[in-house]
Amino acid sequence: MKKKSLKHSLFALLSLTVVIAAAFPSKAAVAKGKITRVDSTSICGWAWNPDDTNDVQQVELHIFQSGKAEPVKYLHVTADEYREDLAVDLKDGWHGFSVKVDWSQFSGNDFKIKAYTVKGDEYYILGDTVDYKKGSSGADKQASKVPEDTSSQTAAQAATPVTGERSLGLFSVCGYCNCEKCGGGSGLTYSGTVPQANHTIAADLSILPLGSKVRIGNVIYTVEDIGSAIQGNIIDVYCDTHEIAVSLGLTKQEVFLVQ
Ligand SMILES: [Zn+2]
Repeated sequence: MKKKSLKHSLFALLSLTVVIAAAFPSKAAVAKGKITRVDSTSICGWAWNPDDTNDVQQVELHIFQSGKAEPVKYLHVTADEYREDLAVDLKDGWHGFSVKVDWSQFSGNDFKIKAYTVKGDEYYILGDTVDYKKGSSGADKQASKVPEDTSSQTAAQAATPVTGERSLGLFSVCGYCNCEKCGGGSGLTYSGTVPQANHTIAADLSILPLGSKVRIGNVIYTVEDIGSAIQGNIIDVYCDTHEIAVSLGLTKQEVFLVQ
C-alpha cells in the first residue's frame, strides 16, 4: 500500500468530517414519503421504501413553533396504515401514517413540521417541511418549499451544558410506565424504589450505574431502573400513564451527568 503524506491524509480526514457534518441528518433518504395533511386534530402522511415494500417505516415528526430552533414536540408513529391512494400510486397501500395532535398544548399559532424516518440511530428527512397555522381547516396542505439549511440543522436535540455537568453525548430517549405493555407490573423499580415521573429513569447500568443523576432538558433524573431493551445509549423515562409514555415518542437528546 502506498504511503500517503500526512498532509494529504489530514486533508482527506478534514474533508470527510465536513462531508459527514454537512450530510447529517439529511442523508439520501432510504424512504420516500411526506406529510400530506395537517389539520386541527392530526398529522397524516406516508413513508415507503421503494427497494423493500415490506420494510415498515418508523416516522418521527418534529413540531416547531415558528421562530424557535428546538422542537416543542416529538411524535413517533409507524407508517403501516392502509391508504387507498397509496394502493393506487405505490401498488401497496400499507404505508400511511396518522397521529393525533392536540394543538392547544402549544402556545403560539404558527408551526412548522418536519418528518424523519428513523433507522436505528439514523434520521432521514422525509419530504418537505410543512407549515401549519393553529385553527386551520382540514383542507389538504401543500408542502411549503422551505430550503434546507443542512449545515445548521440537526435532528437531535442539542443542549447547553451547565457548570458541574458533563455531557454524555446523545442518547435515544423514550418513555415507559408501569403497565404490562411497558413490561411493568411489580410496581417497583429494579432498585426497589417506587418509580416517580420527572425523577425515575431506566438506563444501561454499565454506562449509568444505579443512583446516577443526569439532566435531560430541564429535568434532573435518577437512574433507578433497568430494561431488557435498555442497552447502550438508551434512556427510558418513567411516566405516570402509558399515554404520556407513548406521547414522548423516541427522541435523540443530549444527556448530562450531574456531578
Ligand atoms: Zn405503559
